[in-house]
Amino acid sequence: MKKSLGVVLAVAWGMTLSSPAAADLRVFACEPEWAALARDVGGEKIKAFSATHKMQDPHHIRARPSLIAQIRRADLVFCSGADLEVGWLPLLMQRGARSGVQPTTTGYLMAADHVPVLEKPTVLDRSLGDLHPGGNPHVHLDPRNLAILANELSRRLIQIDPPNTDYYRKRLEVFQREWQSAMDSWQSRVTKLAGLPVIVHHKSYTYLINWIGLKEVTTLEVKPGIPPTASHLSGLLQTARSEKVKAILRTPYDPADASRWLSSKTGVVALTLPYTVDKNAPPGALANLFDRTITLLEQVHAGP
Ligand SMILES: [Zn+2]
Repeated sequence: MKKSLGVVLAVAWGMTLSSPAAADLRVFACEPEWAALARDVGGEKIKAFSATHKMQDPHHIRARPSLIAQIRRADLVFCSGADLEVGWLPLLMQRGARSGVQPTTTGYLMAADHVPVLEKPTVLDRSLGDLHPGGNPHVHLDPRNLAILANELSRRLIQIDPPNTDYYRKRLEVFQREWQSAMDSWQSRVTKLAGLPVIVHHKSYTYLINWIGLKEVTTLEVKPGIPPTASHLSGLLQTARSEKVKAILRTPYDPADASRWLSSKTGVVALTLPYTVDKNAPPGALANLFDRTITLLEQVHAGP
């Protein structure tokens, strides 16, 4: 019997689907930036899922059943670490993550374990509600850290998926070349921003501020995770003036009221900076994130 076109196509399609070449390796990223880096470095050989989106505070996520279902299928878990996900990742892991992605294995990649962590406390005191007991976990906003993580991620992908070693090596080489060239151009733009005094809502931008050399005068939060109080904010009125603060920075998920209040009292611009990329961002999104962020800061520097 002659095969119909539909049968022929179905067979061809089935062969494509069963081919080991395409997206066999599943990356469970806690935040969109790590999913984006995985797509940049892993290309078509991986499928990256982000547990959170850019409007969510990664400190406070609910360990939903849909996330448990995703982490069960993961070949690699890629998160910020340094306790950013301490309230939810361990719960997800306990509910059935494979042995190959458990802590200390190749499939468990915590960014903060591979880069210099800033603001490590000398005295540990969780009783005060500090959300950063392991130091500042928001490590992705220094582009040099992303270059380090790209290398580490590529090394892990090769260990987990040796048949695609050449692919991952080439892909990393291209990524690093393009990233270095982007960093060179950003570096030439941010030089003039050095010393620009800013106030931040939460210490979300510490690595960006450190990389550029901005001056972080203070935070609207009383301390990381402790919301602004009226007395704390009124104390900042004088600071904002005396330090000649140029912007009050917050992420898209921080509450706006405190920065709006301080802005209305002082005339200092309240600015929402991007914090991360879209959940399903295509390759190249991380470079766009830094481009947009620097453009917004350049506008602050130029003044009204
Ligand atoms: Zn934080």
